[in-house]
Amino acid sequence: MLRLEGTIANHDGVFEGAVLIDESTGLIDSIEARTGVSDLDTAGCLIFPGFGDIHIHAREDVSGQQCYKEDFATTSAAAVQGGVVQVADMPNNPTAPVDDARYAAKEQLTHKSAVHVTLYAGIGPTTRPLTRHVPYKAFMGPSVGDLFFRSQAELESAIEHYRGRNVSFHCEDPVILEASKGAPTHESRRPAVAEITATEFALYLIEKYELIGKLCHYSTGEGLKLIAAAKARGVRVTAEVTPHHLYFDDAMLTDENRLWLQMNPPLRSPADRIAMIEALRSGLIDYIATDHAPHTIAEKMQGVSGVPLLDTYGAFATWLMAEHGFTPEAIARVCAWNPGRFVKEFLPARFGLGFGKVAAGYIGSLSIVDMKTPWLVTREQMKTKCAWSPFEGVTFPGRVRYTVLEGRVHGEA
Ligand SMILES: [Zn+2]
Repeated sequence: MLRLEGTIANHDGVFEGAVLIDESTGLIDSIEARTGVSDLDTAGCLIFPGFGDIHIHAREDVSGQQCYKEDFATTSAAAVQGGVVQVADMPNNPTAPVDDARYAAKEQLTHKSAVHVTLYAGIGPTTRPLTRHVPYKAFMGPSVGDLFFRSQAELESAIEHYRGRNVSFHCEDPVILEASKGAPTHESRRPAVAEITATEFALYLIEKYELIGKLCHYSTGEGLKLIAAAKARGVRVTAEVTPHHLYFDDAMLTDENRLWLQMNPPLRSPADRIAMIEALRSGLIDYIATDHAPHTIAEKMQGVSGVPLLDTYGAFATWLMAEHGFTPEAIARVCAWNPGRFVKEFLPARFGLGFGKVAAGYIGSLSIVDMKTPWLVTREQMKTKCAWSPFEGVTFPGRVRYTVLEGRVHGEA
């Protein structure tokens, strides 16, 4: 039995205690009072339920074409450094998982990952639901890969077949993106109105086809009103926000960092950034999900969109606490509990009550975060295969000291 004592931070409360994990099942056996005996030194730390990043791009598929950027082994090493114990991987691969056979083939590849991987299946113009119960992803506008739609009508004719399913949407309207092609900057070629228009349509689809909907990497303050109104009338929708949309805005762009900080959707205004922080705090936004996009340094210099963020997941959470006053409970909610609820229905039965809470019966995977030791992020420390970070040079107020995976300890970082 692994015994860890310290300050335990769940979404519904913080307390002093001991967590006992049965290494043979990987599940939490019990929570007890502190006795002064702990298998790990957790002084100065918060013991969180393991963090979950439900939007990543690990880049590995059966074609192997993009394994030079990242694979399930390196993405999992980056996750462990970031305190992330479970991830959900997007389907925009060269051999996209859009049917049972391709999904099963990609799933085989995930076994080299130390952290649990849930796979999304892709929705394209001609796809149909899988036999298996899986989450789906629909890319509304052109991004990286081929799974996208040219119009709202084309998207709806595909979604009609997915009634009642769990579908995540990348909200950027393809017609507006096409019309904005000639604008001078990446940010103006992908304007906020593209996300807002796509949000209206995604919410319409979620309601009409009774989907369990999720809006990915949300970035516009204006669109939050639509999400709030939909939630208020009982639409089953949740929303993600990325670390980069919470930390950076378009007023911070310079000639030096512009290419590094290019992603879809792009950085927005300072007011949008603050609106995202407040929506995350209030519960209107449900998850911190990174959209981890491990493109190589050479690709970034050629203008490829996306940034790698798994290595810094937990350290970023300490910034939200120190800089923006997020409580440990709020961090547990958006980094562990809500992501755990999202993947629960797709987990194998041996995972008990699933991820997201330090309590008996849940998976014994924990993120032990040192709140007192600042971390200067450097390129050399990154475990992602693409080997860089948009946070290079940033000093976070804390970092992940240990990541525990089903009772097995990884660290000290
Ligand atoms: Zn993505």
